[in-house]
Order: sequence, then structure tokens, then C-alpha cells
Amino acid sequence: DPRLKAISEAIRVVPHFPKPGIMFQDITTLLLDHKAFKDTVDIFVDRYRDMGISVVAGVEARGFMFGPSIALAIGAKFVPLRKPRKLPGEVISESYVLEYGKDCLEMHVGAVQPGEPALVIDDLVATGGTLSAAIRLLERAGAHVVECACVVGLREVKGQHGLNGKPLYILVEPR
Ligand code: IMP
Repeated sequence: DPRLKAISEAIRVVPHFPKPGIMFQDITTLLLDHKAFKDTVDIFVDRYRDMGISVVAGVEARGFMFGPSIALAIGAKFVPLRKPRKLPGEVISESYVLEYGKDCLEMHVGAVQPGEPALVIDDLVATGGTLSAAIRLLERAGAHVVECACVVGLREVKGQHGLNGKPLYILVEPR
């Protein structure tokens, strides 16, 4: 797909953020480039529009920057998966292990109905720990996670199908 090169080039790499040694993939510069941003959303929409997906679940915070546009275009609802103590209603939670320490994602009870086909979206997958927690959360609520999608991801994770057996769709590799 000829659009992918421009999408990759629109993502800024910030060395040593948020700590030394990390090459941070910054998608905010992709959002500044109207064509690259629209092409990114269009590629996801073309892939998911006929898959019967009724839930697009976005991971805080950068999954929120792509998920709602995709949800509106494919006729699905958008469900935010948030960091702890952000959602005001009753929630279910899933913890996951990070390189240093632990984190947690929460979803409102009643946001998805049993059997609903769901897509999980985030900006980037590294180890897959975050997406795995998102999948567990949705499936505990009875949703059926069809696929996970990220703008940026490592080829190794992509090849592994390591996300509780769920397929992973990635547009570009880290730069
Ligand atoms: P994982 O759980 O190891 O797959 O890490 C993925 C999570 O960390 C996602 O929610 C990303 O938004 C975030 N993340 C890790 N590295 C980067 C980066 O370089 N750019 C943007 N987000 C990142």
C-alpha cells in the first residue's frame, strides 16, 4: 500500500523519551498531517467495515485518537478502556505487568453486550501486555474480540499471534 510510507514518515521518533534509551514513536505528528491521518483511518475503516464489528474499544490515551473516527465510519459504538479511577460508573478492571511495575485498564459495566463483535485499537504495540489486558476485559464482559489493530508495531509481535490467540493488524514498523 503506497500510503504506508507517508504514514510511517509522519510519525516522529523522539529519542530518550520518557527515559534514556527509549526511541519514542510519537503519533501526534501523524495527527498534524491531514492526508496521513485520514489515510490511517481509511485503511482501518476499509478493513473493518464489513466484518460485522459493533464495538470499537480504544486504549487510553492514544487509542482514543483513532478509535472514534473508525467507530463512526463503520457504524459501531466506541468504548473507552481507561486507566484506574477515571471512569465514574461501575467498572470491571484488568491488571497487567509492565517492564517496571503494574498498570490496569477499566471499562464501564454495561458498555458491551454479550456476544458483541469487538475491535481493540491502540497507537502502538510493544510487548502486547496492554492489548492482552484489553482483550481479557472485553471477553470477561462477554464480547467477542475479532482483532486488535495498531498504527505501529514490531514485526515479532505481529508474527507471534501472542494476544490470547487474537489476530493483530499493524500498519507500520517502528522507525
Ligand atoms: P505494550 O503493553 O508493551 O505492548 O506497550 C504498548 C503500550 O505502551 C501502548 O498503550 C502504547 O501507547 C504505549 N507505548 C509504548 N511505547 C510507545 C511509543 O514509543 N510510542 C507511543 N506509545 C508507546
